[in-house]
Amino acid sequence: MNKFEHLIKCQQKSLAFSDGMNADQHIDNSQNLCYHKGKFMITAMYKAYKFRIYPNTEQEIALAKSFGCCRWFWNYSLNLCQETYQSTGKGLTRGYIQGLLPSLKKEYEWLTDAYSQCLQVVALNLSQAYQNFFEKRAKLPRFKSKHGRQSISYPANVKFEEDYLKLPKIGLVYCVRHREFEGTIKTVTISKNPDGKYYASILVDDGKESPHPSSDGKAIGVDLGLTHFAITSNGSKYDNPKHFAKHQRNLKRKQQKLSRKKKGSINRQKAKHKVAKVHSKISRCREDFLHKLSRKIVNENQVIAVENLNVKGMVRNHNLAKAISDCGWGMFCTMLKYKAEWEGKTYIEVDRFFPSSKTCNVCLNQVGSLPLDVRTWTCEHCKTIHDRDINAAINIRDEALRILSLGTSDTAYGGDVRPKGGRKSVLRQSPVK
Ligand SMILES: [Zn+2]
Repeated sequence: MNKFEHLIKCQQKSLAFSDGMNADQHIDNSQNLCYHKGKFMITAMYKAYKFRIYPNTEQEIALAKSFGCCRWFWNYSLNLCQETYQSTGKGLTRGYIQGLLPSLKKEYEWLTDAYSQCLQVVALNLSQAYQNFFEKRAKLPRFKSKHGRQSISYPANVKFEEDYLKLPKIGLVYCVRHREFEGTIKTVTISKNPDGKYYASILVDDGKESPHPSSDGKAIGVDLGLTHFAITSNGSKYDNPKHFAKHQRNLKRKQQKLSRKKKGSINRQKAKHKVAKVHSKISRCREDFLHKLSRKIVNENQVIAVENLNVKGMVRNHNLAKAISDCGWGMFCTMLKYKAEWEGKTYIEVDRFFPSSKTCNVCLNQVGSLPLDVRTWTCEHCKTIHDRDINAAINIRDEALRILSLGTSDTAYGGDVRPKGGRKSVLRQSPVK
C-alpha cells in the first residue's frame, strides 16, 4: 500500500465517524488562530462572541446559496488536491487554489452568488487543514456534506448597524446582541445548525495584551468523576447533571419515528429536524452547565489544577463511553484553561499517572490498592479518614503547587509553540517517582 492509498483509507475511516465540526471547536480554534491581512496569526487575546441571528426568508435563501458555493468549492479543491497528489505526489498551494477562482466563476456562473472573500477563505482553510494534518494536529480534511452544520466566513467588511449585522451580498440580518464586546471585528463566521438555527460567531481583537500569569493566591484542585462531575480540594462536590440520560427517552422515541419514515420524504425531513433539536438541546444544556461551573471556579481561585485525563482512551471502554462523552470533561478543561488565561490566572494539568487517589494527603503514605467502590478509607499510618475524591483533589492541588514552586511556569506560555495533536496539553513536567 503506498502513501496515498493509506491517506485515502484514513479518510474513509474518518468519514465513517463523521459528525461535523461543532461550534465550540470552531470558537476555540479561532481564539488562537486568526486570518488577517492574508496570513494566519497566532494571537492569544482574540475573543470570539457568538450571537444568534434571524435571517428572513430571502436572506435564508441567499445564505443557503453561499453555503452551497463555499461547500462546492471546498469539495472541488479537495478533490483536485487528492488527484494531484495521486499523479504527482505533490499537494497544491493556497495561492494556486485561489487562482482557480476566476476561471471557475466563468465556467460556473452561480459561483458568483457567494461573496468573493468567503470563497477565498475556503482556499485558506483547506491549506490550513492540510497543514494541520501534516503536523499531526488533525485528521485528513474531509469532503463537506450538504446535511449537517453549514458555515461561511467573512474575513472583512462585516459591521453592526444597531440591531442588525451587515453582511456583504446578504444585507442587514437581525441579530440579538445579548452581550456587549469591545474591540474591532476581525472575522465573522455565519453558521446554520442542523436544528435550523443561525448563529454569527464574531472574532474580536480588543487590542489588549494578555495579562502575565501569576500564581499568587488561592489554589484549587479539581478531580473529575462520573458520580460527581467535579470534586474540589476545598470539599465541594458538584453533581453530574447527566444531560444525555435526561433526554434519552425523548431522543429514542424521535429516532424511532425517524427510522420509520420513507427515505426522501418530507415527513422524514421533519422527523430529522426533531431529532436534531433534541441533540442541540442536550449540547446547549451541557455547555451552559460547564460554562457556569468553570466561570465560578476561575473567579474564586488563582491557581486551578486538574488531572490530565486521557478521555480518548477512556471512551474506548464501551461500558462507560456514553457516560464519559456526556460529561464533557475535555470541553470543561478547555474552558477552565482559556478563562484562566484571559484573567492572568494559572491553569495547570497534573500527570494522569500521578497516584492522586491512593496517596494520603496528610502523611503522603501510599496504599497498595484501592478498588473503585471504596468511597472512604482510613490511612494506616496517620489514621486519618479520607473521602476518596476530596483526598484526590487535595493531592492534585498539592502536586500542582509543587510543580509551580519549581519555577517552570514561564515555559508553558511560550509564544508560538504549536500543539502536536488535539487539545494543547498544559502538562509541565512529570511528577517525582
Ligand atoms: Zn496518612
